[in-house]
Amino acid sequence: MFLPEKGMSREEIQATLSGFREQDVKWRNGKLFGGAFHVSNEMEEVVSEAVRAFMWDNALDPRDIPSILEMEREVMSIAAVQAGGDADVVGSFTSGGTESVLLAVKTARDWARKHRPEVTEPELIIPLTAHACFHKAAQYFQVKLVVTPVDAETCRADVAAMEAAITPNTILLVGSAPSYAHGVIDPIEEIAALAQKHNTLCHVDGCVGGFLLPFFREAGADVPRYDFSIPGVTSMSMDFHKYAFAAKGASMVLYRNAELRLHQIFTCSGWTGYTIINPTIQSSKSGGPVAGAWAALKYMGKEGYRNVARDLYQATQQVIEDINSVDGLEVMGSPDMSLLSFTSPTLNVFMLSDALKERGWSVQPQQAKDNLPESIHLTINPPNLPRMSEFVVALREAVDEIRNEPKVSQPELIASLQAIPADAELGVDEIKGMFAMLGIEGNALPGKMAMINELINALPTPLVDKMLTFYFNELSKYER
Ligand SMILES: *Cc1c(COP(=O)(O)O)cnc(C)c1O
Repeated sequence: MFLPEKGMSREEIQATLSGFREQDVKWRNGKLFGGAFHVSNEMEEVVSEAVRAFMWDNALDPRDIPSILEMEREVMSIAAVQAGGDADVVGSFTSGGTESVLLAVKTARDWARKHRPEVTEPELIIPLTAHACFHKAAQYFQVKLVVTPVDAETCRADVAAMEAAITPNTILLVGSAPSYAHGVIDPIEEIAALAQKHNTLCHVDGCVGGFLLPFFREAGADVPRYDFSIPGVTSMSMDFHKYAFAAKGASMVLYRNAELRLHQIFTCSGWTGYTIINPTIQSSKSGGPVAGAWAALKYMGKEGYRNVARDLYQATQQVIEDINSVDGLEVMGSPDMSLLSFTSPTLNVFMLSDALKERGWSVQPQQAKDNLPESIHLTINPPNLPRMSEFVVALREAVDEIRNEPKVSQPELIASLQAIPADAELGVDEIKGMFAMLGIEGNALPGKMAMINELINALPTPLVDKMLTFYFNELSKYER
């Protein structure tokens, strides 16, 4: 593809873009249980208008565009209250949960450099169910990652295992409220108490739940304490682009006080251009996401969020019951919000996921790790609500379709791949060969995923990560 010699017309651009669109999942129809955080078409318009009004403004320098700072402060103050924080709690607006978590980890590292200078090789402890972005943060900021087991029944962090993993180098403990994969809240009070006892910081990953959970409690859900009202909690991440229903690119990292946040901010007057003060990772950044988040919060108000939380809570409790009533399926743990996972001791859940896909339903297959089996994940959103009973019918049909399939469909293939050592240095040709065995060539997107998921599930994590990195690198090539 080359830059066109003459520019395209506005109409041509619109038509081409809608052409691209045709291949996309139509998530507004409520048949995707994933990242489709959405309330209504009207709200979408309100938020879009706000984003559009500020998307060309650069939030880099608040002296030029103080309006963005004003919106950010209002959004921050609302977030701090949602997080049970007092007037000392401060935050920064970020592009997403990953950026919020990256910053919390970097802040903890730099806090430790100042307050625990004897630590030269800092360590971060997370439960197995913590989001992958903590692995990313550890990699990016050179903090040693220590992953501890969770309880197989409840899928919650095993606090005794976390305590056993603490060393003189531990600087940060993490719990989720709730975890993404299984939707359960870790025992945050106990984790925070451990953090206090061992003079470490404690981050609550409230990316998905931090904003809306208080409204679930109002709706009658038995939500355990998880927020700044617990003394040892020092930071929390909270995504607006999830259950506050803002447009993407909107999250916040909150700290117990401004002294902690100091360690997050990057300042540079040591070059030849404008002086830089970057509280977050981006430098030039659009004002659109802040305006969108501001508009979402103001449009919904407590009443709007309360209603959505009530409906999501009821639908989740209902679908948990429905799933558990299907022979062979069981919901994992007791989900605290509107995210859940279910597994099966007998059925091939990856084939089940494909069978649902054939019926137009998109769910997320999840891999087995340690003592947790492979599962299917649902994140429930308002567009799904009118279709929940239809989903249960499709689920029953899909289960019947795959009921007699083997739990592992190609044991010989998997065994032969499992013979490869986890630390093997695989060349390009070997990896290409492995993908060819799975029927994936070049940069085509795979269709049926069951076999690939089974393989990922069976192989050692480092090997899978290497293969997928390679695959994605191929996928994003473009034939000229
Ligand atoms: C989504 C999520 C993240 C990462 O957020 P992104 O916005 O996708 O970067 C982190 N933690 C939890 C619990 C999440 O649900």
